Parts: sequence; C-alpha cells; structure tokens
Amino acid sequence: MKPGICQSCGLPFTDESKGTNRDQTESEDYCINCFQNGNFVEPSLSLREIEAKYFEKVKKNEGLTLEEAQEAIKILPTLKRWKIREDF
Ligand SMILES: [Zn+2]
Repeated sequence: MKPGICQSCGLPFTDESKGTNRDQTESEDYCINCFQNGNFVEPSLSLREIEAKYFEKVKKNEGLTLEEAQEAIKILPTLKRWKIREDF
C-alpha cells in the first residue's frame, strides 16, 4: 500500500494513521492527527501555526527531520485544506 499525503498537514500517512469521517469510515485525504470524526482536530489552525509545529517537532526530535519539515511546508499551500484560503 502506498502512503498518502495528508491534505491538511502535508505529511505522509499510512492506512494505520488515516483520519476518520463522520460515519466512521476512513478518510482518504487526511491523517488521524488532523481529522477525526469528520472534523479537523484544530479547526482554527493556520498555516503559520502548522509550520511552527513542524519546527517544534524537529527540535524535539519527534520523528521529523528538518528536511521533511521544509518539504512539507513547501507543499502546504497546494493542499486541499489550504489552497482555497487567501489569508496565509
Ligand atoms: Zn495531517
């Protein structure tokens, strides 16, 4: 199975870390950290806050390298959750 890219946080996710839809089916677009029971976990999250989170993760060594963080940040504005917004 190929991992997808979460359309909210830009990080790869696997079948085990898929988000959940309102009807408890698995989300094909979002990971479990971003999307649960049909809602975004942090609905008011901004792109800037996500970027800050990445760097926090890198600093704390939570399984994200600086390179991965920069890669994810690059694609963030193209993701489903963000590309319709103009205020980032
Ligand atoms: Zn995500």
